[in-house]
Amino acid sequence: MAKKLNVIDLVELQYIDNALSARSSELERLKNNPEVEDTSKKLQEKKTKYKEKGDWYHEIDVRRKKLEDNVDTNEEKIKSNEKKLFSGAITSSRELKSYQEEIDMLKKSNNNTEEKILELMEEQEAAESGIEALKNEIEALESDIKRINNEIEEKMEGIRHNIEGLRRRREDVIVRIPPENLKEYNIIRTKKAGIAVSVIKDSFCSTCNMEIPLVETEKFVDSDTLYTCPMCGRLAVLYQPEIDRIKKELES
Ligand SMILES: [Zn+2]
Repeated sequence: MAKKLNVIDLVELQYIDNALSARSSELERLKNNPEVEDTSKKLQEKKTKYKEKGDWYHEIDVRRKKLEDNVDTNEEKIKSNEKKLFSGAITSSRELKSYQEEIDMLKKSNNNTEEKILELMEEQEAAESGIEALKNEIEALESDIKRINNEIEEKMEGIRHNIEGLRRRREDVIVRIPPENLKEYNIIRTKKAGIAVSVIKDSFCSTCNMEIPLVETEKFVDSDTLYTCPMCGRLAVLYQPEIDRIKKELES
């Protein structure tokens, strides 16, 4: 026996397909979440700054250590000169004077170098808190991204579950619809931006929002009959409260 069309089934199929495409769009939106993109961009910027500051800090460290080595070398020279001076082995006053002059010069040079070392240490100290702050910011951004991704994954999981349910429901509805109606539904749906079935309520088409001329609405009397909207050409079903129930179910 050929199946008889229950027009409500076509309306239900349309609402299921609407819900399915809405869920797919939600999934797409979640996949390309701008918050994740923004936060990742910020994180990258902070990481670059952190690396730059770290490199600079290290560079100063190298410079400072080199200066400290210079001071040490000079100290040794000073000590060995003083040893010679006080050993009594040198008697020439010219020679004594030259040793003393060298000691003075080395001491002066060390004083200058130590000042420079102090300046570098101050620079490093000032940079340390900035570097520490950047490190904390990086950690916070990383944990933000992790949290957002977890939230997104949770939402996506819920939507995927919802889609599975909708697909099962779609299968159930499809078997109740006669093949020729299903074929027509698919053809119109492709042509008319995904909406093949419209509901006529108070002489208005719920999809094209046009008022249907009186001469046409007079023909729309039977809630079991499948009509065509004279304004947009979609399949049309007269409104009945059952439709609201189905719509509400699918929206939740
Ligand atoms: Zn219409």
